[in-house]
Amino acid sequence: MNDLLPGELSSDMAPIETWQFVERATREVFSRFGYGEVRTPVLEDTGLFVRSVGEETDIVGKEMYTFEDKGGRSLSLRPEGTAPAVRAYIEHSVSNQEPLTRWYYVGPMFRYERMKTGRYRQFYQIGAEALGSKEAAQDVELMDMVVQLLERIGLKDISLNLNSLGDDACRPAYQQKLVGYLKSHREELCEDCQRRLETNPLRVLDCKNPKCQAVVQAAPNILQELCEPCKAHFDEVKRKLDALGIRYVVNPQIVRGLDYYTRTTFEFIAAHPALGTASTVGGGGRYDKLLKALGGPDVPAVGFALGMDRLTLLLKESGQKFSDPPDLFVAVADEGSADAAFTLASKLRKEGLRVEFDTRGGSLKSQMKRADKTKARFTLVLGQAERESGKAQLKPMAGGDPIAVSLTEVTQAVRSAPQAPAPQATAAQG
Ligand code: ATP
Ligand code: MG
Repeated sequence: MNDLLPGELSSDMAPIETWQFVERATREVFSRFGYGEVRTPVLEDTGLFVRSVGEETDIVGKEMYTFEDKGGRSLSLRPEGTAPAVRAYIEHSVSNQEPLTRWYYVGPMFRYERMKTGRYRQFYQIGAEALGSKEAAQDVELMDMVVQLLERIGLKDISLNLNSLGDDACRPAYQQKLVGYLKSHREELCEDCQRRLETNPLRVLDCKNPKCQAVVQAAPNILQELCEPCKAHFDEVKRKLDALGIRYVVNPQIVRGLDYYTRTTFEFIAAHPALGTASTVGGGGRYDKLLKALGGPDVPAVGFALGMDRLTLLLKESGQKFSDPPDLFVAVADEGSADAAFTLASKLRKEGLRVEFDTRGGSLKSQMKRADKTKARFTLVLGQAERESGKAQLKPMAGGDPIAVSLTEVTQAVRSAPQAPAPQATAAQG
């Protein structure tokens, strides 16, 4: 579990400014698509995840933080966001109030994983769920939303991998074929997959173990076994992606980690080596059966989740910075001016400027050192002379001529001063 800190204080994780940038972009892009934010508790009844994610998954089988509370209930820190969102949707009878619901969430998830780059025990996901539409357009809308978010934050080289898992009509026959094939390679599979063969054979396709991946390469292809309606749905997804100009790769090995997926599944995979084996930045799919299985209405749904830790690491790797330096550093020239400078700083902040002031006092030299460190655009030194004349100098920290200002018009002067071309600042504002 990590601490997220401002500036360059934490070396492993991206600075908090990068996280905030991604979060702002998310809210902006998702609201354009009509998605409303939901915030659910970080704890849920353990049974919710057992019934939705599935007992046989790594998440529920090995990775959940589960404990008994003082009332003797078994609770778990949420390992993912779909089950809580669906629980809330059912609990608030949302389907009776609106036929189509679009939600997103941003927040921490918890899984007891082995820690490596891009894989943590408290990590953060951005996710979205669309409930009420069974159409391919809904799948594509979600993928489009991810693509637009990735574009908005400036991440390139992330490819969309697309698959269909079929449904009750065609998956059983495929599964039988798959099991037949996998059984003939039983000895080559990892221990987990030998067990999965009995409990949930599709998941073998998803195994990260290189031995299993080698076996899976030659496994029967689900896309060749789809029934007509599933095939039509998949073709429609591809047609609509093409129409939007969204590029994708068809990859029959994308099965996703959770039970209850039907038809469309997808993953966004980064080409970047920074993440090593953790190169999947997100994924999602259709889960038309989940709501009913959880005792809710028979409502089709589709969603995705993106890993914020991995998105921010990729941004950090790309060298982009998102810090927002102060507009102005107000320095005190002599002790008699300390109150006036303190009051001036307060007034300028009220007017909307980002102002730094060294509350420790100290020599002008030490204050200027601090001003340098904060990377403020301007400094203003307030002393007896400035107080008496009502005028001061705005000194651009990047060099250049000082600007003479009246002490009553500092905010206007800072705002109208030409911005030094700073690519980093542009990225933060863009
Ligand atoms: P992986 O195959 O990498 O274990 P997953 O299938 O377990 O991923 P999902 O449950 O689909 O992951 O979660 C969606 C995204 O959340 C992942 O693509 C990843 O970016 C992020 N994520 C999942 N687990 C972690 C973790 N332990 N630490 C950081 N990010 C994670
Ligand atoms: Mg995992």
